[in-house]
Amino acid sequence: MIEELLKYQEVDAKLRKIEVELAGSEARKKAASAKKYIDGVEENVNKLNARAEELTHAYDEIAAEQERLSEQKAEFKSAFEHAEDEKAITYLLKKVEDLETKIKRLVSQANKVLSGMQGIIKEYATIKSTTKAAQAQLAENGKKYNELKQSKQAEKDEIEKELKKLEKEVDPVLMEKYKKKRNGKIFPVVYEIRGNVCGACNMEVPMSVMTRVKNGAVVECDNCGKLLYLKK
Ligand SMILES: [Zn+2]
Repeated sequence: MIEELLKYQEVDAKLRKIEVELAGSEARKKAASAKKYIDGVEENVNKLNARAEELTHAYDEIAAEQERLSEQKAEFKSAFEHAEDEKAITYLLKKVEDLETKIKRLVSQANKVLSGMQGIIKEYATIKSTTKAAQAQLAENGKKYNELKQSKQAEKDEIEKELKKLEKEVDPVLMEKYKKKRNGKIFPVVYEIRGNVCGACNMEVPMSVMTRVKNGAVVECDNCGKLLYLKK
């Protein structure tokens, strides 16, 4: 019962090797990182748009306030020019000075907002050029990866054909368990119990389970989930 599965796993190891090679290839890694960047671009641009909108709004508010204060200043100034009594003159002069201070503060605030906007424009430009580079990287490495995949296809087909043949000899329940783990990226799936510990993780196999494996059962390790058997 276990021999057939072990034979299957032996051939499956060749398939696994190709899969690992493809997944770990420079071309796939580069294509994947480029794709990840491109996928995130929309979100980045949306964030920038939101910030740009906030800054525009802030700028408009500052400009409106500045206009309002400038009008006030003009009124006080004209009143100041026509004022005759000392007290009124002092009051109006103070008012004009206060407004000038406030306006100056607004101008510096407006400049800060403007430099923030310039920063955003720079970021837009960076995103644009980085995106272009990422697109080129994706195209180039996607092509390379496909070529690599193609170059392994015949070998893969051959192995898969052999696996299909071998599968017929394996107990279906066991085969299903194996495939489930294999699809979950566990490999190798089947290990031998050495002494009374799991051959994969060295966890002790309970006595009751040992009795079952001694009778030829294939069990699952409680700790690492690998399939375990005992060599006769
Ligand atoms: Zn284990």
